Amino acid sequence: MKHNKTRISPFSLIEPFTPGISPARAPSTSTLWFIFHNDRLLIEQRTDEGIAVCSAPPISRGLSPIFSQYIGNYNSTDIYAAEIQEPPALPETMQFTKLRSLFGKIDREIFSLAGRAVQIVQWNRDHKYCGRCGTGMLIRQTELAKNCPACGFISFPRLSPAVIMSIVRGKEILLARSPHFRKGMYSTLAGFVEPGETLEETVTREIREEVNIEISDIAYIGSQPWPFPHSLMIGFTTRYTAGDIQIDNKEIEDAQWFSIDNLPVLPTRMSIAYHLIELFIKNTH
Ligand SMILES: [Zn+2]
Repeated sequence: MKHNKTRISPFSLIEPFTPGISPARAPSTSTLWFIFHNDRLLIEQRTDEGIAVCSAPPISRGLSPIFSQYIGNYNSTDIYAAEIQEPPALPETMQFTKLRSLFGKIDREIFSLAGRAVQIVQWNRDHKYCGRCGTGMLIRQTELAKNCPACGFISFPRLSPAVIMSIVRGKEILLARSPHFRKGMYSTLAGFVEPGETLEETVTREIREEVNIEISDIAYIGSQPWPFPHSLMIGFTTRYTAGDIQIDNKEIEDAQWFSIDNLPVLPTRMSIAYHLIELFIKNTH
């Protein structure tokens, strides 16, 4: 997909995506099929254009999906999500690859669309039965939701909002590392929103819990869907006001103040964490 337009935020699609549960009557110029087996996406290695996702229904590849669903239209392309339970032998040029490992390796637009598709596939798989009475759920024909024929309970795809924030003290930024990060890498703090919390309360609480620091001047920067499994990262900048670093030793194993001259290994450029650190670098001169 080639575009000249600019994004409304660094992590938005360039063209508007129109979600839907059945294709519009007007014919689309193309289709894209995001076919998953667990958290792995079916990709094809094409000699002319690198990695591509399927442009034809699973059946055309000899695959029988246990779930397939139209999810919307993007730039005149109809987008479908499907799930395969047991993949048959595939040609050498095709394989199921962990979606997460494709971050930064495939076209950003395609990755974003795959993120939408995988969340719908997972939601379908994980909400087969009513959470209230255990009856099998039915897919609604009017909106992206399921309802229970016995008790009427309605289930929508699940989203877990999480905040991610930079803390700046003069010409330094506070970065921390989790035990699962690659060697030497530090990133911004992040954490899930608790029921009933404002985003600002989450930012303040997470910083207090993880590093025992007080902050002010919470400013919204942007958001990034993070479909592992269903987060929405909401990014903020904050300013240090008081406290000495004291780590919780649960979620993080180290936290330090870094200046531009001694930055550690940073997260991937396509992440909102990197975007927040980049903002600090731009604003510190
Ligand atoms: Zn029910």
